[in-house]
Amino acid sequence: MNKDSALVVFSGGQDSTTCLFWAKRKFKKVYALSFRYSQKHEREVDLARAIAGKADVDFGVMDVPLIGQLGHNALTDSSVPMDERIPDGAVCPNTFVPGRNLFFLSMSAVYARERGVNHLVTGVSQTDFSGYPDCRDSFIKSLNVTLNLAMDEQFVIHTPLMWLDKAETWALADELGVLDLVRHETLTCYNGIPGDGCGHCPACRLRREGLEKYLLTKDEKLRMKNYE
Ligand code: ZN
Repeated sequence: MNKDSALVVFSGGQDSTTCLFWAKRKFKKVYALSFRYSQKHEREVDLARAIAGKADVDFGVMDVPLIGQLGHNALTDSSVPMDERIPDGAVCPNTFVPGRNLFFLSMSAVYARERGVNHLVTGVSQTDFSGYPDCRDSFIKSLNVTLNLAMDEQFVIHTPLMWLDKAETWALADELGVLDLVRHETLTCYNGIPGDGCGHCPACRLRREGLEKYLLTKDEKLRMKNYE
């Protein structure tokens, strides 16, 4: 296994793009892997490819439409109206794609193993998460053990955003020198609009509130610095 290489589970959104540049700083060779899983906005894969090109990393796409077809949810089924928040009595909104991170990480591990890579990077976060159970630290740690047992390998799943809120994720992107790229070239919006997005879907709201909070803190810090 090559200790200098990592594979990033890469959707072309804010979080995984920040992780891609985080991985570039940590590892000599970085692979990015995207998935077509019957998502309504397959355009995200084209954006992911473009970002991977700019980042100069090895890019791959896997066609796994079954993942979106197995579960009934608002990201893969146009007939399901999107929940704006978690409905009463539900664990998470219907934008949850059941099994998505389980499948993505499992397939990424096989893909990585074929290339002699044991470091996997994913942009999941438990802090500002939308109620998705497969974004939690306990799930990632459990899957890491399972993958190691399944393939008798020593995979290490890195989750640089796990304990960061959205404002801190923007701060990390800025620190990595890619704030503008993440802001204008990624796609997080559930309505498939890149950059600042539609502005009103839950993903856009979370992203915008984080950005506003971060930019405000940055301004304040600058003002304090000038005052000193
Ligand atoms: Zn949106």
